[in-house]
Amino acid sequence: MTVSWHDLMADIESCGACPLRAGCSRVVPGEGNPTADIMFIGEGPGADEDRLGRPFVGRAGELLTKMIHAIGMERTDVYICNAVKCRPPENRTPTAEEVAACRGFLRAQVALVRPRIIVLLGSTAGRDVLGDDFRVTRDRGKWIEKKGVWIMPTYHPSALLRDEALKRPAWEDFKAVRDKARALAEGMRDGQAAP
Ligand code: SF4
Repeated sequence: MTVSWHDLMADIESCGACPLRAGCSRVVPGEGNPTADIMFIGEGPGADEDRLGRPFVGRAGELLTKMIHAIGMERTDVYICNAVKCRPPENRTPTAEEVAACRGFLRAQVALVRPRIIVLLGSTAGRDVLGDDFRVTRDRGKWIEKKGVWIMPTYHPSALLRDEALKRPAWEDFKAVRDKARALAEGMRDGQAAP
């Protein structure tokens, strides 16, 4: 069953299905183009996101925004959200139970946006979408196709801020996303099957 954006946002705002809601100041559902071709999924809101109610607006968000610009897009062209919609205390990694509690919302967002490409930013998003066996160091940079959607796992921008050496491989992943988006658009124009 597909819900409307209005109902989904209302359900997320009023959710208290896991303990994260009690510790955050506001819910951060996600933002961007509701019918975007590319969807970015991160881990969870941090302090700045919790304050402003918007995803990826702190330092890691600035870097993500720069990388989106570098592949020729604006934030308003894509859809950006997180595995969990409420800030984990002290920015800890959300537990598997918390991610599972929020998974229905993420799935509903994917069902509404219907992206052609999903970029998984970091381990939490990777495990959420691809399963517990996911390892970002091993699995990043490799396309996975699921039900016609192309999935690219890569590092979370906050990991790039901690370790400069990860910037180059992450940039390679973003260029692969740019090239796939172009190829898919060209395939649509030419009426060909997706590459
Ligand atoms: Fe609900 Fe997700 Fe917030 Fe947990 S993190 S309370 S499941 S919206």
